[in-house]
Amino acid sequence: MLNKERLINEFIELVSVPCPSKDEKQEAELIMSKLRAMGIEPEMDNAHEKTGGNCGNVWAYIKGNVPTAPVLFFEAHMDSVAPTTGTKVIRKDGVLYSDGTTTLGGDDKVGVASMLEVVRALKEDGVPHGDIQLCFTVSEEIGCLGVVNMDKSWIKADFGYCLDIGGDIGEITYAAPKLYDIYVKVTGKAAHAGIAPEEGVNAIMLAADALSKLPAYGRIDKETTFNVGMFNGGVGTNVVCPEVKFVIDMRSLNVEGLEKLKDDTIALITEVVTSQGGKVEFEVHEGCPAVAVPTDHKCIELAQRAAEKMGLKPELKTTGGCSDGNFLCGYGLPCALLATGMSNVHTTEEYLKEDDLFGTARWMYEIIKLNAL
Ligand SMILES: [Zn+2]
Repeated sequence: MLNKERLINEFIELVSVPCPSKDEKQEAELIMSKLRAMGIEPEMDNAHEKTGGNCGNVWAYIKGNVPTAPVLFFEAHMDSVAPTTGTKVIRKDGVLYSDGTTTLGGDDKVGVASMLEVVRALKEDGVPHGDIQLCFTVSEEIGCLGVVNMDKSWIKADFGYCLDIGGDIGEITYAAPKLYDIYVKVTGKAAHAGIAPEEGVNAIMLAADALSKLPAYGRIDKETTFNVGMFNGGVGTNVVCPEVKFVIDMRSLNVEGLEKLKDDTIALITEVVTSQGGKVEFEVHEGCPAVAVPTDHKCIELAQRAAEKMGLKPELKTTGGCSDGNFLCGYGLPCALLATGMSNVHTTEEYLKEDDLFGTARWMYEIIKLNAL
């Protein structure tokens, strides 16, 4: 049976191990030793050869005894946002906090601890279940590097769940945006600003003119956002600015709409800049693919029924954020995000209710049981 106190204690043990991005080795070894103690032989991939970290992603494949059941995938990331070394957990009125000098690390040890406790309980209870694949990733917090650099042929599951998003237990996120980062370089022509300004072409003014002609920015529609987050350039107060660089972050749940927005934006900036004697170059980076699990997919339906079994009212949601789940979906694994209750993440005020930690594990356990029926 799932054991709440054992789960909380294991969570505290997991977050007490320093685990910044690219330095997950100690945590990975702890997780692997816990899996071995359950009779599971985990494997580590070599993602770190590309990420520059000190260990790879940890994988485990748990053979079930219901071969007709779809193979489930559960994922959580091992790294936590700094300051994360020397975490001391304070338990107060059913809530877990750090002592205020570090993050709690509930992001994402809530997922890690739940996965370990559920597998342990499955073994103890001998409940019928299908095959289950677990994946504990590295360096999610610095660009999902573990997932980006994994060998997707290791994925053996039919669909899965990422245990890495805030919100109430029972909230299922089935869609997250595709993201483009567009690096723009506008080139004008330098000239002395006081003696010969007419000989220059001011890149700042061209870029500003182009950006001011964009039809919209910020929240463009229900599915789409657009941000200019960085803008750099200029060499001196007395020089007509020869070059500026800026970066656009555009993302949307509507993948076709995003392609059009990208093309339209590039066309507009090009037109404004070149018509005034400037030059412009674009570098388009695909930040991540979209999460788009159809709401009638078994992945969603199972999570809904499992939440209902727990007496919760499941809620379908979308997010504007990107996570490991985006890349897993991009690899062809339908992957929904299950809310875990983590709150104030990425700050030293982070907290996690003990009930939400236990609720995450219960939800996962119910999904596995229902999947085998
Ligand atoms: Zn996270």
